[in-house]
Amino acid sequence: MYNIIADLHTHTSACTHAYSTIDEMVQSAYNKGLFALAITDHYGTMQGCPSKDYFEDILSYPMYINNVRVLKGVEANIITPDGHTDCEDDLLSKLEWVVASIHSLYINGRSKNNDYTELWLNIAHNPYVNIIGHSGSPEFPYNYDLVIREFAKCGKLVEINAGSFYSRKSYLSNCITIAKTCKKYNARIVVNSDAHCDTDVNRLDSALIMLKDIDFPQELIVNSSIENLKEYFDEYNIKY
Ligand SMILES: [Zn+2]
Ligand SMILES: [Zn+2]
Repeated sequence: MYNIIADLHTHTSACTHAYSTIDEMVQSAYNKGLFALAITDHYGTMQGCPSKDYFEDILSYPMYINNVRVLKGVEANIITPDGHTDCEDDLLSKLEWVVASIHSLYINGRSKNNDYTELWLNIAHNPYVNIIGHSGSPEFPYNYDLVIREFAKCGKLVEINAGSFYSRKSYLSNCITIAKTCKKYNARIVVNSDAHCDTDVNRLDSALIMLKDIDFPQELIVNSSIENLKEYFDEYNIKY
């Protein structure tokens, strides 16, 4: 099985639908032997989410807490069918880590022919985005070959979201297709918990079993070794 050393998409009680503080999340990451943890609370348009001040102030947290590299980030909502997010560029440029995801309640309007290829191609070229979050929604289909090739070209990390295996089961067959397409085009991925409480940090078993089943190459999983992750950090000037 793969050895995952960082959970790069998690939420805290700064959002009203998540239940652990930053310190509790970090303690859990430490207890589970992780090298890094990204705090990526939801932004703006989603109900019960912290204000812009929270995301600016979190930057004053230390780089390491309890020997865990804590990345200060955001999960930006994609809110238009052509790929704009609800997070201002001045904030995105300051944060260390950006996940961009669709949450169906918060997207304004539908694309032509119910195809979201253009949305993801524009996100591929958004310089602030690190991770393409849980993109397997059957409600928002896109051309996997075209888009994932572009993600690979633009250095975006495609997320295999382990939380989807428990809470978004309708995504799963697309999730497997996405992983196979990443393998086909050598697109790098990350496996994340999307934890909303400390006990779920690094809860990845089902996602890892799926990746093993399709014989996904370990070297393409950026959070499967400290060396892989540091290589990515070096490429994007992220300090560690
Ligand atoms: Zn999300
Ligand atoms: Zn999330």
